[in-house]
Amino acid sequence: AFEGLADKLSAAFKRLKSKGKLNEADVKEAMREVRLALLEADVNYKVAKDFTNTVSERAIGSEVMESLTPAQMVIKIVNEELTALMGGSDAKIASASSPPTILMLCGLQGAGKTTHAGKLAVMLKNKGHRPLLVACDIYRPAAIKQLQVVGEKAGVPVFEMGTANPVEICKAAIRHAKDYGNDMVLIDTAGRLQIDEVLMNELKDIKNTISPHEILLVVDSMTGQEAVNVAKTFDELLNITGVILTKLDGDTRGGAALSVRAVTGKPIKFVGTGEKLQDLEVFHPDRMASRILGMGDVLTLIEDAQSKLDQKAAEKTAQKLMQNKFDFNDLLDQLVQVKKMGPLKSVLSKMPGMEKQLKDVDIDDREMDRIAAIILSMTPEERGKPSLINPSRKRRMAAGSGMKVEDVNRLLKQLEQMQKLMKQLKGRGKRRFPGMGMPF
Ligand code: GDP
Ligand code: MG
Repeated sequence: AFEGLADKLSAAFKRLKSKGKLNEADVKEAMREVRLALLEADVNYKVAKDFTNTVSERAIGSEVMESLTPAQMVIKIVNEELTALMGGSDAKIASASSPPTILMLCGLQGAGKTTHAGKLAVMLKNKGHRPLLVACDIYRPAAIKQLQVVGEKAGVPVFEMGTANPVEICKAAIRHAKDYGNDMVLIDTAGRLQIDEVLMNELKDIKNTISPHEILLVVDSMTGQEAVNVAKTFDELLNITGVILTKLDGDTRGGAALSVRAVTGKPIKFVGTGEKLQDLEVFHPDRMASRILGMGDVLTLIEDAQSKLDQKAAEKTAQKLMQNKFDFNDLLDQLVQVKKMGPLKSVLSKMPGMEKQLKDVDIDDREMDRIAAIILSMTPEERGKPSLINPSRKRRMAAGSGMKVEDVNRLLKQLEQMQKLMKQLKGRGKRRFPGMGMPF
């Protein structure tokens, strides 16, 4: 998803960056391009216009124009405003003061209600809850069966009363949940191909009778502007508490993700990214903004690197590098530094262009711990002078760290490769991100 938009935005920013110092006209031109890119991605017209106006206003401020890197500052503002557009900080699921918490899922037919009721149930179950799925789509003959199949896969019980009145089904389900200790009740309601009065009245009846803690509207992101219109109507009629945006794994252009919040004022809480029960993600506006910007979370990464990498330690390493003395002490230092930044996969995926490449790669963060364990089982002397490490020392280290001799050998080889790499880097004389060229 979002590739087209990301490409267009990065083209606009590239032109900005090539300018160095910016004037008002440069910013205006870039924002015109951003606006076109948003419209092409099916973003609501008014949303796109307001968005670029806000960014322009902020960017044309003297602080930005006079900064050393005005283009970077503009991109940063776009990033911040995209985040704000999609809802600022992450939205949470409500929780009832006296259980069960009632979640009602509604939306058009085919949007993904039944599937996402199952996905939410799995997510909640994994967090230690005891969800109950409730079958309220009484109109489609196969709907109850579908929910039962989902429930079975999820390992979550399904409450059904055939084609009884949905309001009655809900009341009975809540009683059942209380009796059986289900703290979360997820109601899978009926959909229609289009918004229709009969359905809306039924949903309103359910809402008024059982007062759900969450009314989550499930919308199909592939339908773009239509998804936003649907969200607006459902919200007017039901006062929804949040949105689940589904099928984000398809080639959706992004319009729905960007406009839903601005048009309805309601947050996207989850996104669906596939047909399987585990394909559900909590929606993070900031991460989504960075993805749309098509440059990974590179801004966050830079900020992270600045705040978390201990400047002194980095300088010390740089100096060692210059002197061509990179040993296991330094490697251990670097491991600690990198670990401060969080799981390695998330660090790496923030680098531009890395997200796609990392999609199916499984990085085991324990590898860092294993390396650290081996280094810690070395004597200080060995750490500073790896050439001392002979076969009997290797066996001692392997035993001390609970690894195999092969693992120790591999680590020695890695250090050698790093030393080589460092030599090359030293030749070029540039190390902007100490700690980031680690080969593990
Ligand atoms: P409902 O009518 O709203 O209950 O929709 P369903 O849950 O039955 O889903 C309709 C179709 O969309 C099914 O074939 C689902 O497998 C599929 N689907 C639902 N969510 C997603 C998603 O996030 N990604 C993809 N690729 N397919 C989805
Ligand atoms: Mg359904």
